[in-house]
Amino acid sequence: MTSVRQIPTRCPLCGDVRSRLVTRGADRLERVEGEFSVVSCRSCGTWRLDPAPIPADLPKLYPTDYEAHNRLRERPTPVIPGRTHTWRRRFVEWAEAGRPSLWSLPLRRLPDHLLMRGFSRTQYGRFNPLAYPGDGRRILDVGCGSGDLMAQFLGHGWSPVGIEPSEHAVANAKARGLIVEQGNFPEDAGRVAEHGPFYALVMSNVLEHLPDPALALRTAADLLEPEGLLLLWVPVADGWQQRWTPRTWFNLDLPRHMSICTRRGLASLLRQTGFDILATWPGTSARAVIRTVAARYKGTPREAAVGRLEFSPWALRAVGPIIRVLDAMNQGDIEIVLARRAKETPRPS
Ligand SMILES: [Zn+2]
Repeated sequence: MTSVRQIPTRCPLCGDVRSRLVTRGADRLERVEGEFSVVSCRSCGTWRLDPAPIPADLPKLYPTDYEAHNRLRERPTPVIPGRTHTWRRRFVEWAEAGRPSLWSLPLRRLPDHLLMRGFSRTQYGRFNPLAYPGDGRRILDVGCGSGDLMAQFLGHGWSPVGIEPSEHAVANAKARGLIVEQGNFPEDAGRVAEHGPFYALVMSNVLEHLPDPALALRTAADLLEPEGLLLLWVPVADGWQQRWTPRTWFNLDLPRHMSICTRRGLASLLRQTGFDILATWPGTSARAVIRTVAARYKGTPREAAVGRLEFSPWALRAVGPIIRVLDAMNQGDIEIVLARRAKETPRPS
């Protein structure tokens, strides 16, 4: 167990200090000592840690066996372009072209959902809308961990570059032959700028770990080509798991998640930092839902039995349809967002 120094925080979206308590809890990885509080902003509903670890102590939150720093599943094997890849690319081009103007708002998500259901499975097992032949285009993976997503992009013919604060994860990624700079984002963005500008930039489960998500997104916009693409996987604060059992919600990940936006807050944050949203998909994972439920049984006689469910193909299949219904009602806990750098990047006044 390690201890961290903490400071009071204000809302990273609107700056308000007023808040109400959502939940308190301990680090489930049992890395960091003490209890942590998550509060919800009274003005905009954004969740944040308050107090939060000081920036200098952030590396202490991540043990060397942290999962994202040791994932080595994906191999950069060339992917033969097939119908799935063609459809993904056509969809992105269609979304970039602004979609037909008659496409009314309630229907907007329909093609996104269909694309996910029909063409979702990549080798990595989760939906990646940019998993199509990249024709050598440059893509930056911010917080690339051990480089699993980069390996996937490399396999699809993109030219990936990564930036990652963890020395251990950088060593894992470099051992796979990937181009990765060690550093914090956005502070050390200069280290990857020379590899740019980038056609696309991805942040997979990263934005919520950063003390200043707005600054990170503005820096991301600066690293992109004009109208370059941004792809995010990010937890959101408004959904059934979060409301029902915030303390055991798997993606709360105390104390590593500094802030978690609502869907509306995320859309507004992207607009303010110079992005237009092209498409969104739900990214709720059956395994994570089972972990959320299992955590409710921690310390009870049922703990072991419920904990085993996440490895049961039967349980995962049973949870799937429930998740799909809740996702369709915008009640999921992870959003996958494809956005484009706006022509005119707004600057803070
Ligand atoms: Zn706020």
